[in-house]
Amino acid sequence: MIATAEFIASREVGLARLAAFTPIAGQHYSSARNYDRGPGQHNSVSQLSPYLRRRLVTEEEAVMAAVRGHGLAGAEKFNQEVFWRTYFKGWLEQRPVIWDLYRDGLQADLDRLENDRDFRKRLDRALAGETRIECFDFWVKELLETGYLHNHARMWFASIWIFTLELPWRLGADFFLRNLIDGDPASNTLSWRWIAGLHTRGKTYQAEAWNIAKFTDQRFIPVEGKLSPVADALVNEEPNGLPPIAAIRKPVLPDQHFSTGLLITEEECRIEALPLSDFNIKTVATLGASHLRSTLPVNTIVRGFELAALADTVERLGCSAQELIANDPKVLLNWAKEANVSQILTGYIPVGPLRDWMKLAQSHLDAEGVSLCEWQREWDALIWPYATAGFFKVKKQIPRILQQLGMPDC
Ligand SMILES: Cc1cc2nc3c(=O)[nH]c(=O)nc-3n(C[C@H](O)[C@H](O)[C@H](O)COP(=O)(O)OP(=O)(O)OC[C@H]3O[C@@H](n4cnc5c(N)ncnc54)[C@H](O)[C@@H]3O)c2cc1C
Repeated sequence: MIATAEFIASREVGLARLAAFTPIAGQHYSSARNYDRGPGQHNSVSQLSPYLRRRLVTEEEAVMAAVRGHGLAGAEKFNQEVFWRTYFKGWLEQRPVIWDLYRDGLQADLDRLENDRDFRKRLDRALAGETRIECFDFWVKELLETGYLHNHARMWFASIWIFTLELPWRLGADFFLRNLIDGDPASNTLSWRWIAGLHTRGKTYQAEAWNIAKFTDQRFIPVEGKLSPVADALVNEEPNGLPPIAAIRKPVLPDQHFSTGLLITEEECRIEALPLSDFNIKTVATLGASHLRSTLPVNTIVRGFELAALADTVERLGCSAQELIANDPKVLLNWAKEANVSQILTGYIPVGPLRDWMKLAQSHLDAEGVSLCEWQREWDALIWPYATAGFFKVKKQIPRILQQLGMPDC
């Protein structure tokens, strides 16, 4: 046993975590954030990702707190990391085909397992943490038991998975998505692609023994020669390069005159930031959907956090809500019909498994004239248009975007 899960799914706890972290979000974060000191000791990073992923705490709140505490320059590193999250989301919105390729490629990898016993065995050993690469085996257990890994451990893990164990990257990404509480289709898929040399084409990330020893404070000293000395980009997997950029999807906007059902998903748990009083809300529902992350079982820690986050959101709204589960895609239509509402209002559903499911649900809603309306945050609307190539284009805009959002004077 490594440690128990330590994340409590409420906005109050997320805000308390942000408040406790803010004093070290400046110089300390900048110089110490790469050290992975192990479970229970991840004190130099915020561990806010389960909250930010669901917007129990928003990116804007985290960034503005850091600016208030350290000034724009002092908070630069932390803010850039938060912007990486939005960059990845915006990038995937504009290349949704990359998600389709991941999803379909993963299914092909799983199908291959059926007929290849050696491959199955190698995969099972990795998933059980029995590779005899001590650090890797430890991170498997840490992830399964806590639902979290430090960023540097995620990088080493993915690199060892791809270049030393020579396993398909999508099966590793799926293992992360099923077990990370912060599991996010954009950050996860694109980070794995980045390690594999598919995001910044040809540039891979290589896990090296000295680097692991240094940044784990010598907790792990991999034996020289155990890790692959080469990390050749997997560019042959996609010989045609990246797909062209698609326009950012424009969601249907809600009509204030229609009777409305408010739908809460884990994509937007700060739903009270919507101008809810402008709408004639007749009914509220939550939609549990984290099981859609994979066709394989999703960690109960992930499911538990999601359901508790949804319940916390309902409690903050001070209402009661029906608890829906994203299985039968007719469930939204049935709910809307029962409550006699003609539109459903929810937070923007970005590219990923829930969006895939929503497309099915929407076809039933469309057939009966119920509109599905999404609310897009100004934060995303301002940043996503710059997420068309590398991160640099977004990074350059950070001061201007924060000004536009009303950055505090410091
Ligand atoms: C292979 C791999 C898979 C990953 N999968 C996910 C995932 O599924 N979900 C996820 O939220 N992050 C993912 N990340 C990014 C990053 O590792 C986590 O966001 C970070 O470790 C969360 O811990 P923290 O909140 O303590 O981070 P902090 O260092 O405190 O950073 C603050 C916030 O900035 C954002 N952030 C920080 N680093 C990154 C990054 N490299 N990319 C994107 N956002 C970042 C997160 O929202 C994080 O909460 C992945 C990284 C790698 C290398």
